[in-house]
Amino acid sequence: MAAYETTVHDYDVVVVGAGGAGLRATLGMAEQGLRTACVTKVFPTRSHTVAAQGGIAASLSNMGPDSWQWHMYDTVKGSDWLGDTDAMEYLAREAPKAVYELEHYGVPFSRTEDGRIYQRPFGGHTTEYGEGPPVQRTCAAADRTGHAILHTLYGQSLKNNAEFFIEYFALDLIITDGRCTGVVCWKLDDGTMHVFNAKMVVLATGGYGRAYFSATSAHTCTGDGGGMVARAGLPLQDMEFVQFHPTGIYGSGCLITEGARGEGGYLTNSEGERFMERYAPTYKDLASRDVVSRCMTMEIREGRGVGPDKDHIFLNLMHLPPETLDLRLPGISESAKIFAGVDLTRAPIPVLPTVHYNMGGIPTNYWGEVLAPTEENPDAIFPGLMAVGEAGCASVHGANRLGSNSLIDLVVFGRAAAIRAGEVVDRAGAVPATNKPEVDRALDRFDGLRHAKGTMSTAELRDQMQRTMQLDAAVFRTDKTLAEGVVKMEGIAGKVDDIKVTDRGLIWNTDLMETLELTNLMPNALTTIVAAEARKESRGAHAHEDYPERDDANWRKHSLAWVDGNKVKLAYRPVHLEPLTTAEEGGIDLQKIAPKKRVY
Ligand SMILES: Cc1cc2nc3c(=O)[nH]c(=O)nc-3n(C[C@H](O)[C@H](O)[C@H](O)COP(=O)(O)OP(=O)(O)OC[C@H]3O[C@@H](n4cnc5c(N)ncnc54)[C@H](O)[C@@H]3O)c2cc1C
Repeated sequence: MAAYETTVHDYDVVVVGAGGAGLRATLGMAEQGLRTACVTKVFPTRSHTVAAQGGIAASLSNMGPDSWQWHMYDTVKGSDWLGDTDAMEYLAREAPKAVYELEHYGVPFSRTEDGRIYQRPFGGHTTEYGEGPPVQRTCAAADRTGHAILHTLYGQSLKNNAEFFIEYFALDLIITDGRCTGVVCWKLDDGTMHVFNAKMVVLATGGYGRAYFSATSAHTCTGDGGGMVARAGLPLQDMEFVQFHPTGIYGSGCLITEGARGEGGYLTNSEGERFMERYAPTYKDLASRDVVSRCMTMEIREGRGVGPDKDHIFLNLMHLPPETLDLRLPGISESAKIFAGVDLTRAPIPVLPTVHYNMGGIPTNYWGEVLAPTEENPDAIFPGLMAVGEAGCASVHGANRLGSNSLIDLVVFGRAAAIRAGEVVDRAGAVPATNKPEVDRALDRFDGLRHAKGTMSTAELRDQMQRTMQLDAAVFRTDKTLAEGVVKMEGIAGKVDDIKVTDRGLIWNTDLMETLELTNLMPNALTTIVAAEARKESRGAHAHEDYPERDDANWRKHSLAWVDGNKVKLAYRPVHLEPLTTAEEGGIDLQKIAPKKRVY
């Protein structure tokens, strides 16, 4: 057995992750007087949320008429009718409150002439239940909205005495008698081991974009929460739904916000044609992301791509007034120059659909409580564990997320988790005692990887995984590519046992840390491709060429995926169709959100 000294910390709540979701949960917990620790592998304001540019959706009606019911309708339609109705209602209803809270905490939003929060149009956000013109719903702090939110929430959390454990890497959950009672961490800068015992553990570890070769996500987006949950024998949900953002910069994958199209930018092909007008006559370049990404891919396939290899598309912003670019999109002017060598006042930006967001994740209810679904009770709660933000799946994004609906998801559900924890955490009760066998299990796994003497380097294996996912679980999928992908990924996941770690040190051992991250990416990647292979329909981001239509009769259900070694077991749970409030109580008219063909 591995011999590591451990330092023990006892808290009411331990939040793993300090992105928008983790910080909003941390702040909410601390405000209620719960003793709260936030553990994070990177400095809080370096979390991927810092890169969010475009903004945060809420029906404030600052720029024209809007309502939470319209926002909910757009979210339901965006999800391609796979989101849970109760969770989507909660999101849309609570969104304005959550944004005003951010404003009062100090987020420096851009302003209108009369001093209200500025809002811009974003893809898939409409008026009149999709019958009216695009709405301006996305609240923005120029094109640095995530940056502004993170800095504000971090400052507020410190002010409320939340305790931060920065550059601590969470290894595994501690499970005691069917309940989560803590988490084991490795402190990166001095190599010490730490046990956090807690009455509630909140996973806010973000997405797993780095399972793919080209992604807009930071290198830290390695699905660590999903990996820990899978190892604890719990399922992941709706993993087949991976969002490709239409405008990653060709080559680097660096994001150009949808706000660029919101402010009037448009896409063109090799003939200079604004081709989105042909596919989505009403909302054009502001159709939903999955739709725009597919149209771009079709243009390229049909030989109308731009560039020497005709393998990408142009995003045009030259026609926008320089004041708009300076005021509303200063950051992307810089990104275009650095990553594409383009002065966007003079030339179009070369772009390509790029992996951007994971709709799937750890299944939760709309309070953030993690589910351990059984056949008898698909909504059974796993006690002591919550998941929020991109790591979780509530599910509000269903098969496709609308732009600016993630930042609002982070703060609405981070806040909801804190409200719930305030109710269910027994403040007077004792913190669970250290579960020694569980801690040893986590440290043994760590030690095994630390001394791994196989034949394959982490970088090689990661490269194989990323290329396979990029090729076989892409914008368009077929029975053939998916079946091949499953076989390849099972082989690749099997090779984790043959990995070679060369650095045995404990202090800032990046080789070992990347290996741990790879073992977290692997179950995320594997469940993605296996669930995709099984889903014989097209819905949202899952575009299956052999089954081009959505099939509500057979497939309007969430997939659940359990991982065992390099194999995945699948089951399904029903979509929640009940809203929180009826139309008589002021809720949405269910007729309005009944499934129909999704056109923009
Ligand atoms: C470039 C880009 C632009 C975007 N723009 C927008 C936008 O304009 N609007 C919008 O709504 N959405 C946008 N999104 C999506 C949105 O930003 C993300 O979904 C969201 O920020 C995720 O937040 P999070 O809090 O869940 O996780 P993250 O911000 O990714 O934070 C994860 C946290 O978990 C910690 N962590 C992870 N693993 C471990 C571990 N093992 N141990 C300890 N700590 C760990 C990390 O240190 C980090 O603090 C964008 C995404 C990208 C990539």
